[in-house]
Amino acid sequence: MSARPYVIDELISAKAIAARIEALCREIHDEFEDTNKLVVVGLLRGSFVFIADLVRELDLPIEVDFLEASSYGDGMESSREVRILKDLRGAIEGRDVLVVEDIVDTGHTLNHVTQLLVSRLPARLKSIALLDKPSRREVDFKADWTGFEIPDEFVVGYGIDFAQRNRNLPFIGKVRFIDSPG
Ligand code: 5GP
Ligand code: MG
Ligand code: MG
Repeated sequence: MSARPYVIDELISAKAIAARIEALCREIHDEFEDTNKLVVVGLLRGSFVFIADLVRELDLPIEVDFLEASSYGDGMESSREVRILKDLRGAIEGRDVLVVEDIVDTGHTLNHVTQLLVSRLPARLKSIALLDKPSRREVDFKADWTGFEIPDEFVVGYGIDFAQRNRNLPFIGKVRFIDSPG
């Protein structure tokens, strides 16, 4: 982890997140109210807190599955390679699917993952991201639902890490490095 000291400034409170999830779940419910089973796919690891709150607010028959993707910069090119580190346990052909992500940044990860899952012929596939940084986009991708649009800041908390730490903060905060005194 970073040895550089930092503080975390709250950006989105736990209360604001909970209220937004309630509103999002009303919309998701409207979209999928006729489903016989919705497969909620969490992208590991950053979405694990969001997906836990989301599914408890959804009054629908659901299954939960997880997928882990990792993206790598490709030299000086803006194109990115996304690798699947852990695939779904279950088949999604003919199923209703909701992909749950923590942050859409350049857009490569969700763009790649949704294309991959669409190739498996789900009945319906929608995506939701808690956070969106539109100013960072490199591919034309927009999640079907977004919790909050945020500026180009490095954020942590509510499942999202900085060097694997701070995932357990109940709010979203931004990392601010502080100069050592003297
Ligand atoms: P992209 O949309 O660029 O393919 O990647 C999105 C992923 O980058 C997110 O799922 C997240 O893992 C990571 N990411 C983007 N912005 C941030 C951030 O501010 N903080 C943290 N911890 N991860 C971020
Ligand atoms: Mg992620
Ligand atoms: Mg990460």
